Amino acid sequence: MKSTRRNDPNPLNIPCRCVALASALVLAAAFLPGCSRPAARYPAETAAPHPAIESSASGAIPPPEGGSSGTAPPVPAPAGTSPDPLAGLDAETLSHRATSGPPVPILMYHSISHQPSNPLCKDPKDFAREMEWLASAGFQPVTLADVLKAWAGLGALPDKPVVITFDDGYKDNLTAAYPILKRLGFRATLFVVAHFVGKPNYLSWDDLRTMEESGVFDVESHGMDHVDFTALPPAQLGRQLRDSKAAIEEHLHKRVYALCYPSGRYNGAVIAAAREAGYVVAVTTQPGWAVPLQGLYSLHRVRISGGQSLLAFQDQLASAPVRAAAPGGTPAGTSAGLPAGHRR
Ligand SMILES: [Zn+2]
Repeated sequence: MKSTRRNDPNPLNIPCRCVALASALVLAAAFLPGCSRPAARYPAETAAPHPAIESSASGAIPPPEGGSSGTAPPVPAPAGTSPDPLAGLDAETLSHRATSGPPVPILMYHSISHQPSNPLCKDPKDFAREMEWLASAGFQPVTLADVLKAWAGLGALPDKPVVITFDDGYKDNLTAAYPILKRLGFRATLFVVAHFVGKPNYLSWDDLRTMEESGVFDVESHGMDHVDFTALPPAQLGRQLRDSKAAIEEHLHKRVYALCYPSGRYNGAVIAAAREAGYVVAVTTQPGWAVPLQGLYSLHRVRISGGQSLLAFQDQLASAPVRAAAPGGTPAGTSAGLPAGHRR
């Protein structure tokens, strides 16, 4: 049941827990080209998952067609989301049925903001280029529910499906990413930390309701707090999973079915608890495209770093670098063998 942690070169792991270093980053950010203001304030009472994410927002909802780089004519937004896109399908049914299907790249983004030194921050212009390339290359964004239904033989995927995910619930996901996704008619999945909702630089419940109702975003859970689930006693783990699901469902009037493990940390006990709490799918930070063999609670993702080039992005989507399933990654939530998680 011991989890492992991959040695992550991400320099953000340490500073995000260190007030002194975060302060230093704030000062440093003020001198970075293009950083128009010192970086974020974080709620003192909350352990921010990342340092110095620059807010681009005043909190205002962006205009419906307000793409930052858009000259293309706007296209209608996708249809509004269903309260239950899985139509009542439960974990047992999906785990038994979703055993084969095509690999799907699940892209992992965090903040969409201009902070060149921060790999968790994708510049909005670069993000727009990546999304526009996806569209031109024929990729069609789908939701995790779409993938599950297809893998279960209950639906079909487009020829080149892709799932676009954002972790943590940063305000700029609305102010910077949303207009671009909406302009392209794309859908995305947003994993929010329930206790961060409404904090400075994070989305509010009103924001999330707007995003969910637009049909552009499928809002799902990243837990109540950004804590290591593998380190929690069972009762606390259960609360992290149940309370975050309930909070999102209550505020957004929908079924929450998907989970993203904070910092990618999980093990067999966490999988079992997630299943018990009512989640039917969970994503990790294990690198690679997702396939059913990984287990519905251990799906791999493609990390999109802030500083990488468009060519590198294209390479990540050129083929399916599917890795062998982790021994613990079976749909039944076995506790055998543990995948290596890494931060974020
Ligand atoms: Zn996170």
